[in-house]
Amino acid sequence: MITDVRDNPGLLKLHLYCRGLRIDDSCHCDEEGRGILRTRAGLGSGLELILPGGLWTNVPVVEEFAQHSPYLLRRAEGRYEIVRDGEVVAQVRLSPRPGWYDRRTSSGKLMTRIGSLQGTYLGIYPAKVCDYWLIKPERENCKFCSVGLNLGADDADSKSVDEVMEVVHAARKESLITYVDFNTGHYEGDTYLDILAPYIERVKRETGLLIGVQTPPHQDLSRYDALKRMGVNRVSFCFEIFDPQRFVEICPGKHRQYGLPRYLEAVEYCARLSRAPGNGPWVTNGEIVAGLEDPASSIRAIDWIASVGAIPTVCVFRPLKGTDLEDLPPPRTEDMIPIFRRLYEACMERNLPIGLAPDIHVSLVMLPEECRWLSDNPRRWWRREAKMKAMARLYRWKFARDLRRHERRFGAAHA
Ligand code: SF4
Repeated sequence: MITDVRDNPGLLKLHLYCRGLRIDDSCHCDEEGRGILRTRAGLGSGLELILPGGLWTNVPVVEEFAQHSPYLLRRAEGRYEIVRDGEVVAQVRLSPRPGWYDRRTSSGKLMTRIGSLQGTYLGIYPAKVCDYWLIKPERENCKFCSVGLNLGADDADSKSVDEVMEVVHAARKESLITYVDFNTGHYEGDTYLDILAPYIERVKRETGLLIGVQTPPHQDLSRYDALKRMGVNRVSFCFEIFDPQRFVEICPGKHRQYGLPRYLEAVEYCARLSRAPGNGPWVTNGEIVAGLEDPASSIRAIDWIASVGAIPTVCVFRPLKGTDLEDLPPPRTEDMIPIFRRLYEACMERNLPIGLAPDIHVSLVMLPEECRWLSDNPRRWWRREAKMKAMARLYRWKFARDLRRHERRFGAAHA
């Protein structure tokens, strides 16, 4: 039985998502860390921290429930620690604040309004606000989502390709990012992939970085073959909820426009593309929010996603301030543990490629490999884990070599 967060950073990461963190007056989070960007990607709102074991996280600190957290962050002799009941449970670090966070693009916009680091990758929401926030007389946004509250506050409304490239280059040079994630909401006419294409092409051509795309499922599935050829390395489909009735309640816009079956069809189609011709590695994610449906349904979602060869991404529901669900309580850690334990087991049982991406630490979700901390007996997969580690070393080496070659070529072309 896993109960002690002092020697289990995976459990601590999960517990902090569910309980949040109070911040002592001794802390200098704004000056020494990244500060708190109000909302990100509709789910984040918190303090970026690095836990023991190198687990990066984004901890709720501004929501009401976090004010009652048993955990307190304090600064003692220049170091940060998390305390519970007067006892130190973990020494932690604030995620470093990049120099470019305080700079502006040549067009005069603050770079953090173009993109921001989530863990160690760069997240960009390049287009206007999701249409579900605009529909009148009644908006149809997903009930947990804060994107419509976010844009115009911490995010710029429109971001040109040149502006995005300035931020990508700064983040590559100074923060050593290896991955850029593009995220959009829904736009009438299924235009999201057309909007993203010029950004994707420039980032790939000028940097060779890994690229991910998170959008609704395009009705023309052959567009994903084209994305793969373009050099996209990851596609992610957020259907959020696996229970069909609950899906309708929580995601009215997605239900009206696409329906759950379309999301599942896109996950399945893209997972099959891993063997199709392309440009670099390719993974497909099916993404859900745990805590808004029965845990057994979340586990069924994980099993289904893994069964088609995609990798489940599981967020913990966070009742963000200002959202339709702000008054709901966050989920209980004990209800979440079986879900995240199953995430690791399902990936191992299906031999899915996890933990291969080089230098990517994700703060907003528990990575599948981090869920190993919640497994009762992870050693039963020791052969697979050893193989995965060897593959990760090889892939990391190849990626670094390709990136160096790319940077030399691109640098020479622009000398
Ligand atoms: S599709 Fe839903 S989760 Fe995504 S931005 Fe729109 S309202 Fe938010």
